[in-house]
Amino acid sequence: MIEIDGSIGEGGGQILRTSLALSMCTGQPFVLTRIRAGRSKPGLMRQHLTCVNAATEVCGAQVHGAEMHSQTLSFVPGKLRSGNYSFNVGTAGSCTLVLQTVWPALLLAEAPSQLKLSGGTHNPMAPPFHFLERSYAPLMRKLGAQVELTLHRLGFYPAGGGEISATIWPADSSLEPFDLIERGAKLDAYAECFAPALHRTVAQRELEELGATLGWKEDQLRVARVRQNEGPGNALLATLAYNNVSEVFTQFGERGVNAEKVARNLAREVQGYQMGEAALGPHLADQWALPLALAVWQRQRPATFSATALTAHAKTNFEMIERFLPVRFASASLGHGWQVRIEPKALAVPVVAP
Ligand code: AMP
Repeated sequence: MIEIDGSIGEGGGQILRTSLALSMCTGQPFVLTRIRAGRSKPGLMRQHLTCVNAATEVCGAQVHGAEMHSQTLSFVPGKLRSGNYSFNVGTAGSCTLVLQTVWPALLLAEAPSQLKLSGGTHNPMAPPFHFLERSYAPLMRKLGAQVELTLHRLGFYPAGGGEISATIWPADSSLEPFDLIERGAKLDAYAECFAPALHRTVAQRELEELGATLGWKEDQLRVARVRQNEGPGNALLATLAYNNVSEVFTQFGERGVNAEKVARNLAREVQGYQMGEAALGPHLADQWALPLALAVWQRQRPATFSATALTAHAKTNFEMIERFLPVRFASASLGHGWQVRIEPKALAVPVVAP
């Protein structure tokens, strides 16, 4: 039984989700205490509980402590099962985080799975649907695992009600680790504003300010189509597509923050990435670590990626992954970013002459 203190490092929900994902993939049980001790409302919230329940269903786990506000959870995984699943957060909590929890395990299942997920699709502090679709999923496909994602309905805090579906195909024999150091040639850069059920000037003001700050032209600034009865909500997204990677940066509008400020905050994020050369932005770096480490473990072959920043989130995730997989993370500063190498543990042991 792997014992984990949920207060280590960043002390957030990622510790739980990484534990669930890798417990399912490796068959190792774990007990997690002091869940989300680093957060103002510690313990399992609705989104985390949905992650636990989803993981339990996907592998027939035996679980103790799966209830709201619980700060201790024990999880004994069973056999992975592909299938048709439906996971509903029940609030505006992020359903993309639920998807990311079961995604790695379903890559190792015997047959494809279809998932329906409902809840928030565009939440602060979580990967928005478009980030998963444009940034994360293409890298997963490059690892050798096909996936199809569809957004059916946007879901924002506090109303929720978003819906996405995913088909996840297992990798043929095993995942293929690869290096991701360079962004490659620049292909596209554009911004979109989602502002369902808000006055249309909100989107116009945000896009105008973003365009003026970044020097982007009108055809790079788009008001996204929304459906009836979606929202209310406001997400401003910037997508930067390169040959080897695409990044999606997001800022959320909220009451009391004017549209121009939302745009300037996003412009700062975009400029931060543009000033560097590393391939992955801060969020993609912390999320890419788990699937890549899984591939490194399966193939027993090292892989490297570069990142513009290594956040506390990323470092905590590396530490968690090392608890479940026999791999080692080594990070080196590049001056303008970081290089992260993941090695199978056997390779990391120095060779001693006989
Ligand atoms: P936690 O705070 O521990 O629940 O983890 C939140 C997760 O959401 C981390 O993997 C973050 O990288 C990710 N995340 C937060 N904000 C964004 C964003 N704007 N775009 C992409 N991913 C995000």
